[in-house]
Amino acid sequence: AAKNSKSNSYQVFTPAMEKTSFKQFTLQNELRKAIVNNEFELYYQPKVNSKTRQIVGAEALIRWNHPTKGILSPFEFIPLAEETGLIVPLGEWVLQTVCKQVKMWEHNGFPPIIVSLNFSALQMLQKGLVDTVASILREHQVKGTSIEIEITESLILNHDSDLVEKLEALKALGIHIAIDDFGTGYSSLSYLRKYKFNTIKLDRSFINDIHTSLDNQAIIQFVIQLSNQLKMKVVAEGVELEEQLALLQQMNCDEIQGYLFSKPTPVGEFEKLLGKRGDGSCASTKV
Ligand code: C2E
Ligand code: MG
Ligand code: MG
Ligand code: MG
Repeated sequence: AAKNSKSNSYQVFTPAMEKTSFKQFTLQNELRKAIVNNEFELYYQPKVNSKTRQIVGAEALIRWNHPTKGILSPFEFIPLAEETGLIVPLGEWVLQTVCKQVKMWEHNGFPPIIVSLNFSALQMLQKGLVDTVASILREHQVKGTSIEIEITESLILNHDSDLVEKLEALKALGIHIAIDDFGTGYSSLSYLRKYKFNTIKLDRSFINDIHTSLDNQAIIQFVIQLSNQLKMKVVAEGVELEEQLALLQQMNCDEIQGYLFSKPTPVGEFEKLLGKRGDGSCASTKV
């Protein structure tokens, strides 16, 4: 290959880089095998009604039970899964698993809840996405109204013009669409006009200091009022303190998700929480 005279035209491959890319390469291969080897697991974190504290929903959050590294958080492998395209089969696995779980809970008489799952940009960009989702729902005989898909502002930024149609087609299946981590991305308000979300999730960074920052309180109050006007449900993420809950209750925030009630937990633990919901459903006998 021709070499131009600029000194930086060749990338120098340092031992440190070699190590990093080898690590990445290894992780990538492990990730590929992990689906087949059944190393992924969904944890569930309850969403509760802010007034009654009853569980009304759950978010499914992926974990990788790595054979040597232990439990890996999504931050440690989702970016790689996105880069390599593995997020597409992985995302399908998540949807399949959620549907099986919803069916199982229904079968075992647990109170009905909406289960939400996270979609990444590449997944949403798939041509046949809506058909895939519809056929997975059909396969498991799960109603679209039982699930919610969470998307982020960065997904919207990275998307092409057909996102509106795709979201509308998913909504036509009964599926709810939530905007996740609201307030952390760009020009959030214009999105609210363009996309008709069912749910808005206030990012944890706003909730963190809601009890100490009057500015944040004002912002959250405003977003909640706006959401009410636009007939969107509001969920506050990352609620850890009673003080935060009290403020959110006063502001008429619909639902709360956070360590105050529960961390994301394996399905068995989650079922104990769900069984205790105590609204007369038969599942309480399961605890
Ligand atoms: P997210 O969708 O915003 O999920 C909420 C995250 O906040 C979860 O982190 C949850 O454990 C954490 N969280 C909830 N309540 C609290 C709290 O009170 N305090 C604190 N400190 N944290 C709280 P997690 O499970 O590590 O997931 C991180 C991110 O990974 C998710 O953020 C989501 O963007 C992504 N992710 C998780 N599962 C999937 C998946 O199946 N597919 C895709 N594409 N992304 C996923
Ligand atoms: Mg989410
Ligand atoms: Mg979030
Ligand atoms: Mg987040």
